[in-house]
Amino acid sequence: MAAREPEIITSKEQMRRWSRAMRAQGKIIGLVPTMGYLHKGHLSLINEAHKLANVIVVSIYVNPSQFSTSEDMSTYPSDLKGDLQKLMSVDGGVDVVFNPYDLYDYGKARNRGGIQKRDNNVGEISCLEERGGGHESWVRVENLEKGLCGKSRPLFFRGVATIVSKLFNIVEPDVAIFGKKDYQQWRIICRMVRDLDFAVQVIGSEIVREDDGLAMSSRNVYLTLNERQKALSIYKSLSKAKHAAEDGQVNCKRLKESVILAIEEAGGKVDYAEIVDQETLEAVEEIKSPVVICVAAWFGKARLIDNIEINV
Ligand code: AMP
Repeated sequence: MAAREPEIITSKEQMRRWSRAMRAQGKIIGLVPTMGYLHKGHLSLINEAHKLANVIVVSIYVNPSQFSTSEDMSTYPSDLKGDLQKLMSVDGGVDVVFNPYDLYDYGKARNRGGIQKRDNNVGEISCLEERGGGHESWVRVENLEKGLCGKSRPLFFRGVATIVSKLFNIVEPDVAIFGKKDYQQWRIICRMVRDLDFAVQVIGSEIVREDDGLAMSSRNVYLTLNERQKALSIYKSLSKAKHAAEDGQVNCKRLKESVILAIEEAGGKVDYAEIVDQETLEAVEEIKSPVVICVAAWFGKARLIDNIEINV
């Protein structure tokens, strides 16, 4: 049975008013932050939110501050209509879609066409600043943001932590659900909440995969059929390494090499493959405690990330 259509809220003030009215009624507010182009992975986060909250807000916002100017935000897929349909298919539905237009001070960018103008130049400033954004306060989680994806995308987690802080300040949720698909992001948000005393319970939700193992991602649409087939090497190699570790192979160098080799033999370009402590995300040499193998690899135009936990 189709659930009710969510209310769409686009202004910060209205969103805050809605949340405060809900809180006054004693409701527990759940937030699921997304960049839209929803798939079953996103919907699983909403199912998790329903277990802990009475009212659910899904934010849909493509965050310019987490794109560097060398990444093309203009081609990030979007389909608000389709997203709303998908949200209506979730058991229990969704109360609000928060689709803000005014999350940042876009400064001069607004005069130049603001958010609509999406450039693709090279440099180490974020897409928001390149477009003349007036925003200048940032949240950084200094150590956790450095490794893994932070190495090749130095401003990415600054953009994520800042926008999630803003969403927490506006929506004032009791609980927020993040996917472990973006493992480093999830750990960074947990740490930020702890360090900055946000009154939000952060939940990490399991990775949802296609039947053949490919982790669901909005970016999978960039893959040709052939590239998609080759990209299966990511999950296959992660699973193989996990089995090897469970069978006693604790040498991380060997395990990492096997993952890199398998992905490169399939035609992927590995950005990184690391075995890190599940909480500190520090690289380990020998598996003695819970770790996670994290991978980022390019197949054609798509940079895919995936990971697998090993709980020894
Ligand atoms: P995105 O729209 O890609 O920014 O993702 C929004 C949220 O959905 C993040 O917390 C992601 O980790 C989560 N997510 C994305 N893909 C998956 C997946 N395949 N399984 C579980 N969670 C996911």
